[in-house]
Amino acid sequence: MQLKEIPIAGIPYDQIKIAKVPATPEYCERPAELIPSTSRSVVINPNRTCMPLGAMWAVLGVKKAVPFVQGAQGCTTYVRYTFSRIFKEPAVIATASFHEDAAVFGGRRNLVEGIRNLVVRYWPELIGVVTTCSSEIIGDDMVSFIKMARANLRKEIGAEKADQIPIVLVNTPSFAGSHVEGYDRASRAFVETLATTRGEPNGKVNIIPGLLYPGDIREIKHLLRHMGIEAIVLFDISDTLDAPLEPPTSVPYWAPGGTEVEEIKDMANSLATFALQPHAGQAGARYLERKYGVRAVVGPPPVGVQGTDAFLKALREITGKPISRSLLEERGRLVDSLADTLHHTMMKKVAVMGDPDIVLGVTRFVLEMGMEPVALAGGTASKTFVHDVEAILAEAGYEGEPPLIINGGDLFEFEEYLKKQPRLDLIIGNSRAVDISRELQVPLVRVGFPIYDRFGYQKRPIVGYRGGEMLLAEIVNSMLDYQYPDDRTQQL
Ligand code: SF4
Repeated sequence: MQLKEIPIAGIPYDQIKIAKVPATPEYCERPAELIPSTSRSVVINPNRTCMPLGAMWAVLGVKKAVPFVQGAQGCTTYVRYTFSRIFKEPAVIATASFHEDAAVFGGRRNLVEGIRNLVVRYWPELIGVVTTCSSEIIGDDMVSFIKMARANLRKEIGAEKADQIPIVLVNTPSFAGSHVEGYDRASRAFVETLATTRGEPNGKVNIIPGLLYPGDIREIKHLLRHMGIEAIVLFDISDTLDAPLEPPTSVPYWAPGGTEVEEIKDMANSLATFALQPHAGQAGARYLERKYGVRAVVGPPPVGVQGTDAFLKALREITGKPISRSLLEERGRLVDSLADTLHHTMMKKVAVMGDPDIVLGVTRFVLEMGMEPVALAGGTASKTFVHDVEAILAEAGYEGEPPLIINGGDLFEFEEYLKKQPRLDLIIGNSRAVDISRELQVPLVRVGFPIYDRFGYQKRPIVGYRGGEMLLAEIVNSMLDYQYPDDRTQQL
């Protein structure tokens, strides 16, 4: 093949284009039996990612904590790259750096030496050891390896210093689940390892936010502040993964914020644990309930009017604190915005994809807008997802065409279904749906994880009444841009 000659002066900027040729300019119908992911032995366009990522996300929400990944470098580099793209922040993650010898003989030496190097160089306040496919398949005996690592540390830096650094083990065999389950497992591992005694009640509530962005966690704290409620927010990434740019005051650099180890220890003494995303955090909440009788309040995600109402009412019931006037005003503004935009949203056909909790929260909200869901795709299979969606539709009195519910399938299935729909006005989901939205020529409103092709979404909340107003505005404006490209017809 003759390659096109590149002019010596270079290619002008306006000619640099990555041509995207649609694979199917005229839609070719696929064999029906290949469309459901359950009838294929291959995943096409996965709607989920790897289990250790969720556990690393969790560890990075703890103050001065470092995840230590018991696996190959790729399992760490990929996650660091993903976090840097999404949060635009450095993510310090250590790795056992498996090579052929570890694959054959196991990763004991890598863990013992790796923990030692991490401690003497960084002096973290906590280490979260996260396993991977390879260490789980080899069958590394992680509990005894961690004991050996601690014994080794005691010899080198003394028992007092070595014992000050908690090491939390999170088993995350990625072949058995997704990043959502990785976070869920971390929630249990942390409270099981650290919250070991029940003492004096602390009068606080525990919040396990799930895979929510820094902007969302700030909004949750805003709601708590306005109700005068003290909380322990587990895996608080609101500062660690959205830190102000300031000259470093210490070497090594530690991002500000994060949940303190002492706070996690105190979680057994709280009034209740709110797992805001049932699939990501419920395991920790249920453990505290079973072990110490700390009540678990699981979901619904506080998205939209009803989702946020349910969260605030549960807070009021458990703490006895009233819902403040300022929050009622925020609610009123969201309801007002819904009324102001109903003529744009009513009966619009929408498809939602992403992590199951995001899909559940957003579905409830789009029903409040009078929209009609045509397909709802949760990327992580769950025992409750289908039932939860049906309950939300029934609660809303939805009488339209029942949507396709995909419980853990891939995006090929989602896309093929949407291509056959006579009408679709909007897709709500993460950056993985970009190509689908372009092929179908419908707008994409970005929510959930991951969003790597736009800036600022990690700071913009979708939870709470104010987050609802922002999400509503984004939905309405996206549809206006697509439907009425002419400025003169865009007036509300
Ligand atoms: S799927 Fe397994 S091998 Fe791949 S990055 Fe994740 S843990 Fe590593």
